[in-house]
Amino acid sequence: VQGSEPANQRCTGLVLERRGEPPRLMPLVVGPPGAGEVRVRMTAAGVCHTDLTAVRDARSVPLLLGHEGTGIVESTGPDVTEPVTGTPVVLAWRSPCRTCSRCRAGRGEYCDVGLRVGGPRVHSDDGRAVDVLLDTGCFAAYVVVPAKAAIPIERDTPPEVAAVVGCAVATGVGAVLWTARVASGESVAVWGAGGVGLNVVAGARIAGATPIVAVDPLPARRQDALDWGATHVATPAVAGEVIAEATAGVGVDHAFEVVGAPEVMAQALAALARGGELVLVGAAPRDAELTFHPRAFMSSQHRIVGCIYGSVHPARDFPTLLEWVAVGTLPVRRQIANTIGLSELPAAFARPSTGERTVVLFAP
Ligand SMILES: [Zn+2]
Ligand SMILES: [Zn+2]
Repeated sequence: VQGSEPANQRCTGLVLERRGEPPRLMPLVVGPPGAGEVRVRMTAAGVCHTDLTAVRDARSVPLLLGHEGTGIVESTGPDVTEPVTGTPVVLAWRSPCRTCSRCRAGRGEYCDVGLRVGGPRVHSDDGRAVDVLLDTGCFAAYVVVPAKAAIPIERDTPPEVAAVVGCAVATGVGAVLWTARVASGESVAVWGAGGVGLNVVAGARIAGATPIVAVDPLPARRQDALDWGATHVATPAVAGEVIAEATAGVGVDHAFEVVGAPEVMAQALAALARGGELVLVGAAPRDAELTFHPRAFMSSQHRIVGCIYGSVHPARDFPTLLEWVAVGTLPVRRQIANTIGLSELPAAFARPSTGERTVVLFAP
């Protein structure tokens, strides 16, 4: 028995009201958690590329943005035994149900069910239901999520770091370790050295890959990639040459495309070794198409693999990722460019994306 039912919480959140228009802060009512759900008081939320692209291609509006975050369980729905109120958690925007056939087979990354809350929990102050991005919507002081999507963390984890583990770190490191399962000594190239791409570099280093080539047009990002463990960096114009030289003309075993652009995917495909795979991590526009030559693809025994959320099983993998952050194996702190208050968030959306992380810290 959890005692009396928690009341609505009123707060402000960043809502996209019309596709293609700047999102704006508006007053919201966040309802109490239902069965199997918890309400989390947010402490930090990172601005991820997917929040920015949602402005362009959101499936529905109005839409509360934000999907990379951390906070403290404020109340729990009926029947929820864990996490208990007061537990610090990282939000997982995609969480295996743990009961369907895929989950029972140990392939929670292919879960057909996906955990969701039982109905709209967020409304505008005039009573309209507001959808939430990626079943999260954490650019607001309160969020209601499935209890299993709130992964407990150590109390001393800095919020701005914990937030970024919830998407950029999980996606980038996971793409290498759990989607591609890169083995020690295999070669890796990554296109895009932003928030996720740097974590691909870090994951490749953890896996023992060599060489690790990072491709990015921006000099600052190439320097970041070297700091994170890349052995070689290149501009897109010379990527093919640099990769050929770094691999003695063989090409790479794993190419990670973190940009979401078909022309970049084509360049990554062309850089593959025999038997190599292209891992699609970047979210392309919904109507984008990729063409390739199936004959060469066949004879080269290539693979193209889709990767969402780094194939992570949040309950299993977040503790490992957080431990790597705590001991410095993942230099996440370095990629957090600045922390801002919620009121500064609309301006952050108006700036061009640099790939560095902006993290919102919520007032206590
Ligand atoms: Zn994200
Ligand atoms: Zn499942």
